[in-house]
Parts: sequence; C-alpha cells; structure tokens
Amino acid sequence: MKLFSILFYLILPFFLIAQKPSPGGYQPDRTLDKKIDSIINDMTLKEKVGQMAQIDISTFIEREKNDGEFYGPFREPNRLSKDSIQKYIVEYGIGSIFNVGQHGYTPQEMYLFVKQLQTATTSTKHKIPIFYGIDAVHGNAMIYGATIFPHQLGMASTWNPDLTRKEAEITAYEMRAANVHLNFGPGLDVGKSLIWSRLDETFGEDVYLTRIMSQSIIKGMEGSDNDISDKTKVSTTLKHFLGYGYTNSGKDRTPSWIPENTLREYFIPPFSDGISNGAHTVMISSNEINGEPLHASQYWIQKVLREELNFKGVVVSDWRDIEKLYYVHHIASSYKEAIAIAINAGIDINMVPYNQVFMDLLIQLVQEGRIKESRINQSVHRIIKLKYQMGLFDVPFRNPKDYKDFGSQEFSKTALKCAQESMILLKNNESILPLKRNSKILVVGPTANSMNALNGGWTYSWQGYNSDIIAQNENTIYDAVRKKNGSENTFYIQGSDFEKTTNIDSAIAQAQSVDYIILCLGEDAYAETPGFVDDITLSEAQLSLAQALNKTGKPIVLLLSEGRPRLFNNIEPFAKAIILSFLPGNQGGNAFSDVLFGDYNPSGKLPITYPRYPNNLINYDHKFSDQVDHSYNYNDGYNPQYPFGYGLSYSKFFYSNLTLSKDTCQLNDTIHISVKIKNTSPIDGTEIVQLYSRDVYAKVSPPVQRLRAFKKIFIKSQEEKQIFFTIPISELKYVGFDNTWTTEEGDFIISVSNLQKKLFLKIPSR
Ligand code: BGC
Repeated sequence: MKLFSILFYLILPFFLIAQKPSPGGYQPDRTLDKKIDSIINDMTLKEKVGQMAQIDISTFIEREKNDGEFYGPFREPNRLSKDSIQKYIVEYGIGSIFNVGQHGYTPQEMYLFVKQLQTATTSTKHKIPIFYGIDAVHGNAMIYGATIFPHQLGMASTWNPDLTRKEAEITAYEMRAANVHLNFGPGLDVGKSLIWSRLDETFGEDVYLTRIMSQSIIKGMEGSDNDISDKTKVSTTLKHFLGYGYTNSGKDRTPSWIPENTLREYFIPPFSDGISNGAHTVMISSNEINGEPLHASQYWIQKVLREELNFKGVVVSDWRDIEKLYYVHHIASSYKEAIAIAINAGIDINMVPYNQVFMDLLIQLVQEGRIKESRINQSVHRIIKLKYQMGLFDVPFRNPKDYKDFGSQEFSKTALKCAQESMILLKNNESILPLKRNSKILVVGPTANSMNALNGGWTYSWQGYNSDIIAQNENTIYDAVRKKNGSENTFYIQGSDFEKTTNIDSAIAQAQSVDYIILCLGEDAYAETPGFVDDITLSEAQLSLAQALNKTGKPIVLLLSEGRPRLFNNIEPFAKAIILSFLPGNQGGNAFSDVLFGDYNPSGKLPITYPRYPNNLINYDHKFSDQVDHSYNYNDGYNPQYPFGYGLSYSKFFYSNLTLSKDTCQLNDTIHISVKIKNTSPIDGTEIVQLYSRDVYAKVSPPVQRLRAFKKIFIKSQEEKQIFFTIPISELKYVGFDNTWTTEEGDFIISVSNLQKKLFLKIPSR
C-alpha cells in the first residue's frame, strides 16, 4: 500500500501534465514553421490579409445579368467569372472559399471550379493554394450524388459512436472526392434549448453524449492520427464557440446570459475534448454571452480557447459575424472598428463573405497601427500551416474519378443502418407494430411523400428545398411502404401540407376502407434562423388532419420526421404507435418502413427531452427546484411527453443486479459498475444501457441526474448479459462558484434503468 502511495505521488506530476489538453491540430514541426516564416517574411501586407479572407463561391459565379444585383440568378450551367478570379485570387490573394451557391454541385463541377481556382493561385508570387470549406453536416449533403445520413440529432438518437465514426469517414471521403478540404462541423453546441431552429445540428441536450459523438466525428473525418493530408481525410471545425445553443429566447443568434461556471461545466467540455482529439479549426459563435459578442472576446478566444484549452489551430469567424459587431451587436461604430476588435481578439479567418472591403480595411488598420503586423503574421502562419497539413501545396486538386466509392451502394447501406438506428419507437400500444404485410394501409400527411422532410436543411442547398427534385429516385415514406406492402394495398393522400389542410375529405373517405392509417407529420426543411417558429406545437393543419382521421376509428400509427420536438399532446393519446426520427436523410423512408413491418427492431433513444407543453421546456438534467410542489399544479416540474433517454423496442429487457465495486471511494478512485440485462421477449434486440449519477447535496445546487456512461448491446431472445462500466470518480465533479472543478464529501446515487445504488465519496482531511 505504502509503495503504491509513493509510486502514485511520483507519477502524479506527469499525470497532471497529461491533463492539459494536447494542442489541437498542431504538430510541432520546426522545419515547416521556419519555412512558413520565411514565406511570411517575403509577403506584402496585402498578400497576408488576403489569406485571412474567406469568400463565398457565389461571389465567383456568373450571373444572368451583370447588374451587380446581389442575389441575382446564376447563369446555368454555373461557371466561375474570370473577372472575379482575377480580382479575388490573383489581385487580393484570398485564402479560402466556402459553401455552394443557390444549389449544390456534382463532384465533377466542383473539380472544375477548384482546379480553376488553384490554377489561378499559381500565378501569384507565393503560389499559396486556397482551401475549400463546406457544411457537410449530415454527409457531404450539399454535393449532388453524395451519401446522405441523418442529421446530428438523428445520429445522437443511435447512441452509436462507432457507426457515427463510420458515417464521418464516408463523409470525409466524399468531401475529398468533391475537392472540399474543410468541414464546418461537428456542431458541439449542447442543445439545451428545445425550440432552437438548429437543434437538429446538435447531438442533443446532454454534454456527455455530445462529447462522445463528436469525438467520433473528429476521428472519422481527420483519422486516428489527424493526418489531413490523407486524400480521404478533411479538417474538422469545432463550432460554435461558445454557448450558442442556449440563448435566453431560444431564438437563433440571440443573446445568452450564462454564468461562467455553467459554461465551463456544460458547454466547454466538448470543445476541450475536440481540441485534445486534434481538430484543426474552431468556429466562433454568432451570439453574445453576458453582453459580450464572442467575436469580440479576448477572454474567450485568447485566454480560454488559446491559452487554457491550448488550441493551436485556425479560428474562423461565422458568416459575416465580424461585420455584425457593428450592424447587429452595436458594440462597434463601423465595420472598420469591428475588424480591429475581432482581429485583436484573435480571429484568424473572416467569413467575409461577398467582397474585398474587409481586406482593404484591415490593411488600413495595420497601417494606422491599430492592429500589429505581428498579430496578422500569427494568423497567416496558422492558415498556411493548415494548407500544408491538408497537403494542398503538393496536391492542390484531385480528380473525382479517383474516388470510385463516391455515392456507392456500399455507402448507402451504412446510411440505411444509420437511419434505422436513429428510429425511436415512442409508443406501441397492444403491440400493434410490426404491421402485417399486405394489410390495407393509408399513408397520409405532409411528410408522407416528401424527401425535403426527411433530409431537412443543409441538403443540396442551405435551406434544403431541393431534395424532392434532386433525390427523387430515393424512397419517400410512402414509396417505401408501398414497396413492402404492395401497390394494391397502399394508398396515399396528402390530407394536409405543413400549414394548411388540402384534401382532408378524400383522406377521410379513403381511411374508411383501410386497416391502418400511417399518419406522417413533422416539419418541412429549414436551416438556421429561417427555421424559427412562434409556436413549437405541431401546426394547426396537421393536428386537424390527425383529429379528423381519428374520428374514422381506424388505428393510427404516427410517424414523426422533424428537426426538433414539435409538440402534439392533444393527438398523442389516440396514436396507437409512434415512431420518431430526427431528419433521417435519404434512407429515412426505407428505415421507417423497415421498422413498421418488423424488418428492423428499433433501438433508438431520445437524445433530448420531448416536452409535453410549450411552457414547460425543462431538460432532463434540471435542478431539484425545477420539480415544484405538485400539490399545486400537476403539470409543473419535469413532465415531458417522453423523457431523455427514452425509446422502446420490439424486445423487452429486464434489468437486475446493479453492483458497484465499492460503496465508499475517494476522488482518485475508479469505480467498476455492473448490471445484468435479460431479453425476456421472443425477439432478438438491441438495448442502450444508460448510467446516471446524482450528487445528493452540493454547494452549487446539483442537477437531479447526469448521464455518465452508456453502452449499446445486442441481446438474443431469452439471453442475459452482464454489462460493465468503469467510471473515474473525478468525472463526478462539477464546476463551483470559483469556476474550477470541485466536489464535496457526501452521497451519490448511481442508477441504471430503475435500479439504484448509493456511493459515498470520502474526501480525506488534510
Ligand atoms: C452558420 C455556420 C455555417 C456558416 C457557413 C453560418 O450561417 O452559422 O454554422 O458553418 O454559415 O455556411
């Protein structure tokens, strides 16, 4: 024992050093650093600031009329304007390009664009290649023909980090096939605001699940060793730093007031993990926290992100967000002042996105001494280094012909698996599901025959309005049900679109002759701020359709496809079964129908709380004081439609024998926990075993529970498995009022399913 203590104290200093996150995206490479320094020494100020500008590809696309009209239609087929290339690439020497225009492109079109742009860079003095960034947030989904996966919230519903990594690997491959080098993702915003129009871009409301899933994305996209010069790997961007998913109003890009200890406990950990996992880029968030827009914050960018979290990579602004310090946040009286604030705060790349003004003003600011040239050199060094790391100096563009697996059958099988695992069975009264094939079925509702609704935003274009056209060869829910159930037995009537009822009477008439109604409700495609809704309840039209169909007396199976929980408490009681998927992508129709007919046994679990009432949007890890005295109002407190972590299966699981390796422990201990799970049903199935902890008393009021670990396991019918978890006790710490991680002596409750065990944490007196 004594020997152990001595050894422990001997290795402690090394352990403490190892605790500091390793520098993200940074391989110390003196030779390369020297080489970059000598390039920078030889660059003019104009060449340097050019590297810091990121321009939207639409700035390069020829328009129908050349009248300077901003959103004027592109000339089809799209071509890059020679004048723009001359101006931005040759004259200004911009560093990077991003996005797609008003529609997506094929890899071949991207190849021609990028080849043209890179070729133009060779006529500049230093021949520094550009890199190309895209929001490949559910597959490289802006590119035509790419494999499309569920959105992040859908992937979070799988609780499957290995599958998520596979998804990310395919996405990176298909990005490189389209000459895209940088992904604006993963989204690390912890989705605590359940009405946020970007909830679909999060891994849900829990920080642990967000951490685990985002590590899979980073490693999948960047590779185990973060060698992004590999022709199948890309740089990831951790976004949006910081606190974006928790605005006070719940609306996109609005202010947050978040105390620093909360930021550190719930919002920073995914970023510190992401940095330790080697991510090369971080995007700053559009919002303000406690009155300070992040783009202006020396504290958050310099002190926390750079110094504390040790991030050595490139910091990119969000879309036009430096300028917004002036015209939105009103903390700067001009664009020029905004640039001075943001660059001095530590932004390396400005997502400009449409003109040269940023570069002109930045040159003036350096000449006037308001920004030091050494500060510019730092950013340019990081940017050029990223391009070396991407291998762009050696191979500036690649031929898509070398990417034979792009959009392959094999990849789409993985997409189907993701979509299947994302399906959450919320209800199955009287085991109405799986349905028997060749029953008479009416498929009805606005999401029934819509690829837009399955894919959501960031698909083929920003708002995702084109899926119905571009993905017309994929199966909608109706197509997939018809294929399994037979055309003669399957009827489709829309009944209602998203906002108004259409042919509701025909739907009712048709319903009379069927055995089941498959009612498909949810949301149309949207992305970001335009997705805001005033009322989180499902639209009136959809609820009326449900109510009218219920009057037919036919059993209703409700399928929900949406990007956030749309409330439906007044129709929920009469749905016999409910399957939910958060934007499952092009394979969504197939996956829904596989679950409906029992070809796939669902296992997805909610990565968010599904609220019941619009004025009761409480997260699962709420405080005890959120659970107010129920003698006054039974609807208060945590009273969701379905709780976080919930989801059924066609199998039944029975939990027993929760055991802890010890019931008293110290902070530096690790505890081993085991539990037995038996599949008591006749059907093989998969269960997601979740382990929670509760700190019974703490100085900062503790949450009622926190997810600490999970495992996804397949259990055969009648089989019993024992599952083991290993939890370092230090994971149970919280961030105190002094903004450091802490905990006190006392009881914790460890729970798995309905089983609980007490654990006493002893803090030895000094
Ligand atoms: C979004 C970012 C995105 C960027 C580029 C912004 O509006 O907030 O998440 O990466 O656009 O498309």
